[in-house]
Amino acid sequence: MTSPAIPMAPLPWQQTQWESLSERNFHGRLPHALLLHGTAGVGKGHLARLLASALLCESPVNTLACGHCHSCQMFAAGSHPDFFFASTAYGMHDSPEDESDGKVRKTKKPAAPSKQIKIDCIRDLINFSVHSAHQSGKRVAIIEPAELLNHNAANALLKTLEEPGEGLFIILVSHQPSRLLPTLRSRCQALLCQTPDHAQSIEWLRHHISPERAETALAFSHSAPLKALAAVHAEHDLLYREVMLTLEACSQREVTYLFAAESLAKHDAIMVLEWWLALVHRQSCANPSADMLGFSDRLMDARRKAQGTANPNARMLFETLLIDWINVKN
Ligand SMILES: [Zn+2]
Repeated sequence: MTSPAIPMAPLPWQQTQWESLSERNFHGRLPHALLLHGTAGVGKGHLARLLASALLCESPVNTLACGHCHSCQMFAAGSHPDFFFASTAYGMHDSPEDESDGKVRKTKKPAAPSKQIKIDCIRDLINFSVHSAHQSGKRVAIIEPAELLNHNAANALLKTLEEPGEGLFIILVSHQPSRLLPTLRSRCQALLCQTPDHAQSIEWLRHHISPERAETALAFSHSAPLKALAAVHAEHDLLYREVMLTLEACSQREVTYLFAAESLAKHDAIMVLEWWLALVHRQSCANPSADMLGFSDRLMDARRKAQGTANPNARMLFETLLIDWINVKN
């Protein structure tokens, strides 16, 4: 199931921020290097694309892209020559091309999305930045998530950020800006995208999903509405309930830890560990105990290991943790 398209308008909690950006753009005072940061799933990427589309539009309406001109159509189709999107998936959709000798050329196409934004991508961005704009005289590049720029890629970007050239706007989007090179951060104007309050999130989500599912999804999405919406559309809220029931049943000894481990191992290990950590955090806040804090450390350690390994043995990992979990809870 795919997430619904979100209209190309400011999200309700970003309205003031949007007005401020639009005014600066109107007066020609928009920074050439922006860093949008904040919790994952609050709409930083949406704001970046909204700004990019407005900058590139041939006839904006009330500060927003018109959605109809040739430029807007190319932007929506992902084929705008003055727009560059740098991400971990960069190059993935390149198709092999035939050489004149009939052999298939080797492409940069990786088998799966990379865990980094690599230097090849940033070299292409630099190349893009030195060419003249085709349409409105402006060019926009978005780098998302910027914290995944690898060291070489980040270093290669520094000079372009310092001297972006006429009409070039570079928007970095990051939910972990502390992972960016300090020299890179200092070349951008940072803009914090706030997490909306609970009522505002529910009000927005109820246009897309039921209030009950919105409540559940927000609980494990760090209150970030877009993350909650994506989770519901991936049916993660249903998985979440299943994982919570399994952990509860195991702690009550209603099922064996072996059965529970097998059940948990059917899902993405990192996702389960994050939900489990959030549960432990809530229980620690309500009823602090040294045992629970110690268990929280073991969960974080397990998550670190799972993140660093392509194929962790999830069942074994969960078996060990569940034995500790039963001890902590009883
Ligand atoms: Zn337009």
